[in-house]
Amino acid sequence: MLPVVALVGRPNVGKSTLFNVLTRSRDALVADMPGVTRDRHYGICRIGERPFVVVDTGGLSGTEDAMDVLTAKQVRLAIAEADVLVFVVDARDGLLPQDDAILAELRRSGKPIVAVVNKTDGLDEQAVMAEFFAFGIGATLPLSAAHNRGTDDFLRVLLPLL
Ligand code: GDP
Ligand code: MG
Repeated sequence: MLPVVALVGRPNVGKSTLFNVLTRSRDALVADMPGVTRDRHYGICRIGERPFVVVDTGGLSGTEDAMDVLTAKQVRLAIAEADVLVFVVDARDGLLPQDDAILAELRRSGKPIVAVVNKTDGLDEQAVMAEFFAFGIGATLPLSAAHNRGTDDFLRVLLPLL
């Protein structure tokens, strides 16, 4: 069984863009595995010779509630099947209450968490990152999925957790 890495976060933070970067430009095949829930997409990413499964959770709710029932369900499903949780947040939106709610759910799993601060392109990276260090997650990394920047550092941090 390959290790499973789940991308989790609010809608529109760039999870699917990161998924595409990880599964396409890193070679490998984008494989929508048959028989799985429609709101989650599965692909294969490789770090060197080390393949792992990436799960893009597409079903998170768009409501402004801290975390509604559907969101909680999706997060729980992603957590259950993952070995490592990648918590994606949006540098442009800043830290929102819904991020804290999702993170609390992730933490309850006891699984390793890497936080990715996406959309840092064009921003003052240090200022943006200062805000998100409040998560208290050791591995909190700036990234721009759309510009494919920061992915190598991200994969370097991910590798020992697989
Ligand atoms: P998801 O809902 O979390 O899967 O988010 P998407 O991957 O669908 O991206 C939401 C929007 O953010 C899209 O318009 C993307 O083009 C945009 N986006 C994603 N990554 C980046 C990034 O690194 N920088 C910027 N500026 N926009 C991004
Ligand atoms: Mg998506």
